[in-house]
Amino acid sequence: MNDRFDIVVVGAGGGGAVLGLALAQRGIPVLVLERQAGAPSAVRGETIQPNGQQILDRLGILKDLSSDAVLPLQRFHFFRIGGARLCSMDYGMLPAPWNHALVAQSDAVHDLILKRLSAQPSAELWYGSEFQGLLRQDGKVSGVVVRRNGQGDPIEIVCRLVVGADGAGSRVRQGLGVSADVHRYRDGYLIALLPRPEGMREEARYYVGRGELLGLFPAPGNRVVTLYMVPAERVAAMRTDREELEAIKRRISRIDDSMTGPLGCLHTWDQVGFLPCVRVRTDRWVVDGAALIGDAAHAMNPHASQGRMQAMADAMVLADVIEDCRNTGDWSAHALTAYEGARRPQVTMLQQLADEQTRYWNAADPIRCWLRDRVFKGMDRNRRLRYQALTATAGLRSTPPLTWLDHLMAAGLLPDPRADAMPSF
Ligand SMILES: Cc1cc2nc3c(=O)[nH]c(=O)nc-3n(C[C@H](O)[C@H](O)[C@H](O)COP(=O)(O)OP(=O)(O)OC[C@H]3O[C@@H](n4cnc5c(N)ncnc54)[C@H](O)[C@@H]3O)c2cc1C
Repeated sequence: MNDRFDIVVVGAGGGGAVLGLALAQRGIPVLVLERQAGAPSAVRGETIQPNGQQILDRLGILKDLSSDAVLPLQRFHFFRIGGARLCSMDYGMLPAPWNHALVAQSDAVHDLILKRLSAQPSAELWYGSEFQGLLRQDGKVSGVVVRRNGQGDPIEIVCRLVVGADGAGSRVRQGLGVSADVHRYRDGYLIALLPRPEGMREEARYYVGRGELLGLFPAPGNRVVTLYMVPAERVAAMRTDREELEAIKRRISRIDDSMTGPLGCLHTWDQVGFLPCVRVRTDRWVVDGAALIGDAAHAMNPHASQGRMQAMADAMVLADVIEDCRNTGDWSAHALTAYEGARRPQVTMLQQLADEQTRYWNAADPIRCWLRDRVFKGMDRNRRLRYQALTATAGLRSTPPLTWLDHLMAAGLLPDPRADAMPSF
């Protein structure tokens, strides 16, 4: 039995690694368990929004991110597939210095967080360590059972608080008996890191069509993260068929012909990842002696561009609450509710916003496509609405960016006398 740690965090993903580091920086003994054998190395584009940058700044990480690791982007352009530009979002509208997004080289930011975590005297990061179950005492969670790679029997670790940061399919959540509504979206994304086409500016392009989406995000190292939406259920069959890959390459070239050259580097399905999209809703994030953070508590559709940012935000708020719990010796659900109460409003708003975006951006039917394009164009003419929408994507607000009146104005059904105003939020 091991009882050296106050806190055990299950999962060293976006949320768990940040929580481990935030606690260790306060000198709180923390163990982070990760079932993978080492730091993750998947092909993944990652946009770090202004709220995430603020957190990385507080952790002392932001200033050490080199230009090989992150590329600042200020403008995101939306286009109708086969048609004109619909709308441009300019982060330059936001207050400096948080007036851009950062596109990260696959896992470069995460690697640095994990490196800093490993270097902390009060933290340990155990790779190859899989959560197996919970320990309980007097009805309260009191630790975890872990199986370590290459070692015999599972071991028991006693602690004050267990944090489930183990992603959308969380086993900690199941062990806690927290009921979850897990929704698998019809569509996910093929992802590939390709050379950036000559002449492509450091501005993102997002193409929307009839049931079709292509995202092109310039990334460090003169690359472009290419995301193409496909129905999740077709992916397994697709990946066995070379001709399917060629068909997708032809389709992307037709949408944006500047990609024809870079797509020549794509020869096999091994160069292409697939990211499924899941939403998780849970009725509670805290119980006596345990808490859930990130996707384990509230995965959301990536249209919000906020999943990982919200996992990090959870981690920072929970770290504050843990400090209070240590001072009072109270690790009850009641004491931990301060964390859930602080985080729920923004998460709920973003999940709803992402679902609304999914309904319209992914739409194939002509009426919703027409409405979507009309709203994009209306936003393009309306500085106030663009600013409000951007503050949500940037993670700088917890309230819905658009009221129902704003929706009517964006769709051009009502005039907006304040279209040029820059509101506060
Ligand atoms: C297409 C797509 C694009 C996205 N783009 C963005 C973006 O641009 N910006 C953004 O903010 N978010 C984005 N996201 C969302 C983001 O990837 C997730 O929200 C984020 O990774 C959640 O972090 P997490 O720590 O909660 O979970 P995860 O990052 O999934 O980490 C969970 C960790 O727990 C480990 N684990 C699981 N089970 C166990 C176990 N039993 N024992 C031990 N360890 C375990 C896993 O190995 C993993 O390392 C995107 C998502 C998708 C699908």
